[in-house]
Amino acid sequence: MSKPTDPQLASSRRALFRNAGSVVAGAAVGAAMGVAGCGTTQPGADEGGAPAVVTGKRIRWRLASSFPRSLDTIFGGAEEMAALVKAMTGGQFDIRVYPAGELVPALQVMDAVQNGTVQAGQTCSYYYIGKKPALAFDTCVPFGLTSRQQIAWLEQGGGRELVDGLFADFGIKTLISGNTGVQMGGWFKGEVPDLASLKGLRMRIPGMGGKVMAALGVSVQNIGGGDIYPALERGAIDATEWVGPYDDEKLGFHKAAKNYYYPGWWEPGASMSVYVGKKAWDDLPAEYREILKVAAARAGLSMQAKYDALNPPALERILGQGVTMRPFTDDVMAAAKDAAGQLLADEAASDPEYAKVLQAWTKFRDASFKWFGRAELAYGRSAFTAG
Ligand code: CA
Repeated sequence: MSKPTDPQLASSRRALFRNAGSVVAGAAVGAAMGVAGCGTTQPGADEGGAPAVVTGKRIRWRLASSFPRSLDTIFGGAEEMAALVKAMTGGQFDIRVYPAGELVPALQVMDAVQNGTVQAGQTCSYYYIGKKPALAFDTCVPFGLTSRQQIAWLEQGGGRELVDGLFADFGIKTLISGNTGVQMGGWFKGEVPDLASLKGLRMRIPGMGGKVMAALGVSVQNIGGGDIYPALERGAIDATEWVGPYDDEKLGFHKAAKNYYYPGWWEPGASMSVYVGKKAWDDLPAEYREILKVAAARAGLSMQAKYDALNPPALERILGQGVTMRPFTDDVMAAAKDAAGQLLADEAASDPEYAKVLQAWTKFRDASFKWFGRAELAYGRSAFTAG
C-alpha cells in the first residue's frame, strides 16, 4: 500500500500511532490511513496532536446479483467483495448481497441499478445487448478475448474509456469483478462429427453464441437455468451449454447427455461486472470508492482462481460417469469463426457507436492474439495435455 520512504505517509503514520487512542480497530486502520494520508495530514503539520484518524461514514447498500446462490463461484464473488469492503471500512460500508430473483429478476439487474431500486448489481453486460448491442464488449463476444486479454484491454488497452462511454447513457459505473475463463462448448446427446450435423439440432444457447449457431443451422432455444436439465433429459432439446465442469456438474447435465464438447468459442472469457448507480457512486466518500474498486478486483481474482482450481477435479468426476470429451471439428470451428466475424461486422454497419468500439477492440484483439500465439501457445501446445 505504501513505501515507508514516502515522507508524507511516514508523517501520517507517526501521527496515526501517536494518536493511537482514537484509532479505529483492526482492518479499519487501512481505510483510516487512506483518510489521514491523503487528506488531513501534511508533512510536519501533525505536531499539534490533532486527531489524524476520521471514523468513516456509515453507508448501507443493497446489491442485486443476476446469479443464484448455488453458483458459489460467481455469486461467491459478490459476497467476497462485500466482505472485503466491510472489513476494510471497519464495518462502516456494508453491502448486502441478494441472489437473482430475491429483489429483482436475474436479467433486470441493470434496470434496478439504473432506476435506483438498488445501489449496486453483479451481472454480465451481454445480457443487455437489447438495450445497446455494444455492451457485449464488457463481457465477451464469440472468438473474442480470453480472461487475461479482457483485463488487459479494459485496464491497459483503452477498453475502460470505451465501456464507460457506453454506460454513461445509463448512469452506471462498472467495475470488472471476475471471469469464468474459456467455457466449455456444452453437452450434446449425440456426436457432432461435422458441420452438417449441426443443422436442425435443437440447442439451448443464449446471446451472440446463439446467433452464430443459428447461422450454422442450429435451432436455437432459449431456456432459463432451472428448466434446462428437464428439457435435455426428456429430449425437448438435443444440446445445451452452461459454463464449465464445476458449474455444469451441479446442474447434472452429464446424466442426460454424454458428449461434452469444447471449446465454448462464444464465451472465451465471460467477464463479470459490478454495476454502481451514478448517484450512489457520487455519494460515496473518495476512500470508499477506492476500497470498492480494490475489493471488486480482488474478488474477481478469487473467482478466476476458483474456476481454475475447481474445474480439474470436477471434470475428472464427470469423466468417471461415462462422459466422452470431444473437440469441435475444424470445419465447425472455421465456419463459426466466419459467422461470428460477419455478425460483428453486421452490427457495426448499422450502429456507429458499436463500430467505434469494434474498431478499437479489433486492433487490440489482433495484436493480443499475435502475442499470445507465440510463447503462450507454444508453451501450451508442449505442456498442456488433453488426456
Ligand atoms: Ca455459457
